Amino acid sequence: MFDKVLIANRGEIALRIHRACREMGIHTVAVHSEIDANAMHVRLADESVCIGPALASESYLNIPAIVSAAEITGADAIHPGYGFLSENARFAEIVEEHGITFIGPKAEHIRLMGDKLAARDKAIELGIPIVPGSKGAVDNMDDAAEIAAEIGYPVLLKAAAGGGGRGITLVRSEEDLRGAFVRTQREAEVSFSDGSLYVEKFLERPRHIEIQIAGDLHGNVVHLGERDCSVQRRHQKVVEEAPSPALNAEQRVQIGERVAAAMKKMGYSNLGTVEFLYENGEFYFIEMNTRLQVEHPVTEMTTGIDLVREQIKLASGAPLSFTQDEVELTGHAIECRVTAENAKTFAPSPGKIRTYHSPGGMNVRVDSALYAGYSVPPSYDSLIAKLIVHGRNRNECLMRLRRALEEFVIDGIETTIPLHQALLANQDFANGDYDVKWLERLLESES
Ligand code: ADP
Ligand code: ADP
Ligand code: MG
Repeated sequence: MFDKVLIANRGEIALRIHRACREMGIHTVAVHSEIDANAMHVRLADESVCIGPALASESYLNIPAIVSAAEITGADAIHPGYGFLSENARFAEIVEEHGITFIGPKAEHIRLMGDKLAARDKAIELGIPIVPGSKGAVDNMDDAAEIAAEIGYPVLLKAAAGGGGRGITLVRSEEDLRGAFVRTQREAEVSFSDGSLYVEKFLERPRHIEIQIAGDLHGNVVHLGERDCSVQRRHQKVVEEAPSPALNAEQRVQIGERVAAAMKKMGYSNLGTVEFLYENGEFYFIEMNTRLQVEHPVTEMTTGIDLVREQIKLASGAPLSFTQDEVELTGHAIECRVTAENAKTFAPSPGKIRTYHSPGGMNVRVDSALYAGYSVPPSYDSLIAKLIVHGRNRNECLMRLRRALEEFVIDGIETTIPLHQALLANQDFANGDYDVKWLERLLESES
């Protein structure tokens, strides 16, 4: 097992990884930007190294600075968290070239799945159904128009290298295609340094259902059930739950086994999530994320498995610590992502936290790096806390979540706690009756 792990991230996930390491007797090294010098993960880590200014490209994305920090502190392994360098195959390779273990899948799998077009081909090869769309990249307008006409409008234009809900444009008709093509290509070039686009059929009312898998370096792969992440705004997840209110036990086992078998065939190791859209009883692959997900605690709550601990063990070469038969899904879990934004306008709201009180009690979990007196910097993602609760069934889970939200106090900045309270008061949500566009329709009808 590793003696020292460098955590190449910030915020709640850096703290989450620190906690897992601590419980395993592993020393931690925090890296941070200048603006994050007083961050909680820096305070709690055994050692810390400042790797650059606030701008992410000069700190949390600065590969030479991070690798140097690992070498100077003698870290055996680097955990990339999510976002930042977590899906950068070159980073994984560089880390390994320096004799340091990258806590994640093999670089070749990160690279393969990071290209959504290659991932679609791979899915087909593995017998996983995909959303109908173009065979490869569409290089120009005419090709895009031809394929869109074939598939039938509405379609989505998607960046092959996209992520985080960006680089996706809805096109309702051929008239709109030209503008959308130019815009999306430019966005993809700016955000992902890769302007490749592809066309996908736009599903009108799907749910987003994803399968969590874990694999070891000895060829074993298991699945840990699904998460329903359909409550979204601008293609970004807002609430996640497990199990999905839309699936029955038989469907759950079927899709889980299918995904696990496919990943086994691929020789995939470490954690991964295979994302699907689900409509009229059918699953359609959209992409795979080759990393720990923001919403992993939902699965931890229903399986009792510490995914980060498992991830670290798997990277060290240990076999999976459980078999598929030992994975037992219990009760229901829901996560609310709380961001530093106005709950109505979603205007960013960085600033100083005056009062902070997190909810507690049975089966209530808060993953957050906030504390009173801390200043949320304007420089990074607006996620400031995840509230996750577990109940014996969905109803108990909803009751507990309402109660926990009432207790949650974050004063000094605006947060999306009021939005979550409104969701929890909504009858459709209570019924589990929602799709990926449901929240946007709700917000529109209220404005
Ligand atoms: P990202 O890499 O940004 O996560 P995804 O391909 O996973 O992008 O899609 C993000 C979200 O966009 C999905 O969860 C879904 O809500 C929406 N979406 C993606 N593809 C489609 C589609 N073909 N039809 C309808 N909605 C889609
Ligand atoms: P480790 O291999 O991490 O040192 P042990 O083998 O000492 O853990 O197991 C300690 C306990 O923790 C055992 O009951 C084991 O089943 C449980 N355990 C091991 N790995 C995990 C995990 N990833 N999540 C939850 N429990 C785990
Ligand atoms: Mg996605």
